[in-house]
Amino acid sequence: MLIRSSWRIGSIAGIDIAIHPTWLVIYALFAYAAMLSAQAIADLNGVPLSTRNGFILGLIAALVLFACVVIHELAHAVVARRLGIPIGNITLFLFGGVASILREPGTPADEVKMAAAGPLASVALAALFGALAALTASLHWSWIFTLCTFLAVTNLVLALFNLLPAFPSDGGRILRAILWRFMGSQARATSVASTVSAVVAALLVVAGGLMAVRHEWNGIWLIFIALFLLQAAIASGRQARISLALERTRTGDVMARTLIPVSGDAPLTAFVAQVADGRRTAYPVVVDGNFVGLVSPRDTANVPPSLWEHTPVRAIMTPAAGLPQLSADAPASDALAALAKSGVRSLPVLENGEVTGVVSEESIFAGLRDRGTAAQ
Ligand SMILES: [Zn+2]
Repeated sequence: MLIRSSWRIGSIAGIDIAIHPTWLVIYALFAYAAMLSAQAIADLNGVPLSTRNGFILGLIAALVLFACVVIHELAHAVVARRLGIPIGNITLFLFGGVASILREPGTPADEVKMAAAGPLASVALAALFGALAALTASLHWSWIFTLCTFLAVTNLVLALFNLLPAFPSDGGRILRAILWRFMGSQARATSVASTVSAVVAALLVVAGGLMAVRHEWNGIWLIFIALFLLQAAIASGRQARISLALERTRTGDVMARTLIPVSGDAPLTAFVAQVADGRRTAYPVVVDGNFVGLVSPRDTANVPPSLWEHTPVRAIMTPAAGLPQLSADAPASDALAALAKSGVRSLPVLENGEVTGVVSEESIFAGLRDRGTAAQ
């Protein structure tokens, strides 16, 4: 969802890396924070640091930190790929990085591996920069020492912050995996993890408020992040419930069953008259008793009304040959995926080789609502 308005800056190991415009805000803030930290570290160690050098150091530190965030997200993505889970891209935005994992992990063990990879990478980076800081301190390379100390601390903070049990952050995912392992149900685990996350996020809001009252302005940032986590926790809880409902529902139960077959040879005028009061998105087209395609009232928009009388329905239909075959027994999640993949609004559903219904996004969600399985 983020990628649409993001700039793609390149790809690593076949994974696209993109930057959302809001990332520029965090970059500026990080550069400023890095500049202040560099000054503090320099003062602490009795190293002279001019304002100009502090500024340059801040910009470099923020840029390296940005690379560290990408490494954190790449760690998630690479482990996901090893587990056979498809990965979309990595996007950097206001609150850091996010690797879009296109499918939920199938087992609690996979989820733990995937979620732990990021913080482990951050801890490794913290250790690396800590070692470099120790080395450069003994060599009196004050610039590099200051930079490495800042990066060691921020990577450690990054790891710890991500490990907070606030779903869907890494810690929240690990928590869900543990709950999932013991409860045996991903849906129930997600719902509990979302509740815990909401509590953690609320506590962070309070902590941020207390900091702000004491003029510690990082508190305001904490409030923003906590509100983001709260919103994300609620959204993932809802998403997980919908996904599970889709997996548990048969396509046959959420398709439109009352079929109005349209003759392939009939002119569009007849078709339009036939479906004038219908609210269906698509109709099966039949020629000599055989299903040959789907036609939607929308398809007529491509033909000027003056030609409707001389244009047969089969000329504007989507031919069956180009459509995926959906079985009524397949989970509704498969139907939704097939709709998204084929880019059409409706698909025919077959039972024993015969079209018995037409499924669309509308029919799926209306079906779920009627069954009361989807969260509102
Ligand atoms: Zn992470």
